[in-house]
Amino acid sequence: MKKAAQRVGFFSSIHFKITAIFILLVATATFLSGSILIYQSQRALVDAILKKNLAACENVRDKINNFVRQAQSSVELMTLTPAIKDLDLSQIDKLVYEVVSEHEMLDPVAVLNEAGVVIASRNPQEQNKDLSQTEAFLRSKSKSYLSDVFFSKTGDPLITIASPIFDRDNFKKRIGVLVTEVKLKSLWPILDQTRVGSDGVVVVTDKKGGLIYRTGGVQAGGLWQDEAVRSALKGKTGSVHLRNDLYAYLPLEGKIMGAVVIKQPAAEALYGVEKMKKQSFLLLAVSVLIAIVIGLLLANSMLVPVKKLLLGTKIISEGNLGHKINLRRNDEIGELAASFDKMTTELEIQRERAITDELTHLYTHTYFFETLRAEIYRAKRYRTRLSLMMLDIDDFKMFNDRYGHQAGDEILVKMSEVIKGCLRESDVAARYGGEEFSILAAETDKEGIYALAERLREKISEEMFLEVQGKNMKVTVSIGVTTFTENDIAQDIFPQDFLKRADTALYQAKDRGKNCVVQF
Ligand code: GH3
Ligand code: MG
Ligand code: MG
Repeated sequence: MKKAAQRVGFFSSIHFKITAIFILLVATATFLSGSILIYQSQRALVDAILKKNLAACENVRDKINNFVRQAQSSVELMTLTPAIKDLDLSQIDKLVYEVVSEHEMLDPVAVLNEAGVVIASRNPQEQNKDLSQTEAFLRSKSKSYLSDVFFSKTGDPLITIASPIFDRDNFKKRIGVLVTEVKLKSLWPILDQTRVGSDGVVVVTDKKGGLIYRTGGVQAGGLWQDEAVRSALKGKTGSVHLRNDLYAYLPLEGKIMGAVVIKQPAAEALYGVEKMKKQSFLLLAVSVLIAIVIGLLLANSMLVPVKKLLLGTKIISEGNLGHKINLRRNDEIGELAASFDKMTTELEIQRERAITDELTHLYTHTYFFETLRAEIYRAKRYRTRLSLMMLDIDDFKMFNDRYGHQAGDEILVKMSEVIKGCLRESDVAARYGGEEFSILAAETDKEGIYALAERLREKISEEMFLEVQGKNMKVTVSIGVTTFTENDIAQDIFPQDFLKRADTALYQAKDRGKNCVVQF
């Protein structure tokens, strides 16, 4: 019995284990799915930013190509003006500069004749210079030639456009070349319109990495060398998150060669992403917390009834057979509790049967002895009063012999009813043997038990009779009583000894002529 009630440690309890498993499962699932979601949305956001920057690069490239195309068209248009067509030197200066004044980005350099000799120039010292071996002359035979980007003394990026001047009557015959410089500086206000956040930088380089443009101003003759520029100059297009910056890059192809790169500090570009991440993680933490609470509640909803069941079984194992668990639940635990309650009801019936005499419905000898043992223990420990009475029907054998066993049984039943009628709730009455009864009276002293015994004897001798052929046959009893004394505590008396004393008194009562009470 004691072993079954062994204490279960908190950490080895099923309650702890199931709760831990629940929380672990729910929290891990929530955390994992939340983290994956956050990671994916972060990637999507970063991808979107990289794409946007690449689109900005494309936009810059288009602006540059448009600008150069426009410059080229303007120069070609100039070659069609009559003064140039006729190589009318008296008019060229005036006309060229008139046209040019409309195009701020253009700076006419010279007009060459058929042989490549300068016939008009912005620099008088160049007059009559032979430029027949220059790229501009050699490569502008049938269509205009665009030079690579080069830089002026002041560091301004320039390109040269050399446009052929054709004969008025023969469109295939070159009669001269108009050489014009294009000031790429004029591009800057246009490119300044492309902004990437507040700290993003747009960079345009020539094919050697020389700076043509950079948001916020260009250092004269500056170079821009980074991985993105190198990749773009190799013809690659891409966008990448490198260290602390986001890069987007593409090669500048077509009219002029070079690279377009956008560099944006990751801290600025990803500010929104980081903010989203922080908020998401906060939300995730709250979700995990909620999951833990739900896990706890779920585990508790299962385990509290299990604990109740456990407690119930403990109470039952301690001898309280009537205990009911009373759990109303629509699940297996509810079923288990119901079975338990059914079992205890059955146990109670069995127990009742075991301690009740079938004929008289008084307690059995066994139960009486158990109670006697417990009461003696209590009397010793708490010094409570206790008295015992043994009662035997006088000449019962004779009744049996004369009127039969059944009549004898009737007397036994009637006798038990009379006994019950005289006792208090706390008294315990049992059928000790065949026609012998025993009564245990708690909180009753010597005088009390004697008075009770006398009252019982008198009542029986007055009320108990057996009606035989119209005649009333009187039934009497002899009674022996004894009381627990201070001396008994000192001597550590056994239940058997206590019983024996009442028995001895009973024998004395028989000896004294029956129908009387003797006190031990
Ligand atoms: P005494 O006055 O000395 O007690 O005489 P007695 O005849 O009563 O003697 P004793 O107590 O020894 O007799 C017990 C008798 O009780 C024996 C038996 O016939 C009868 N008896 C015992 N149990 C039962 C029972 O359950 N039913 C019936 N009818 N008789 C029983
Ligand atoms: Mg007897
Ligand atoms: Mg008798």
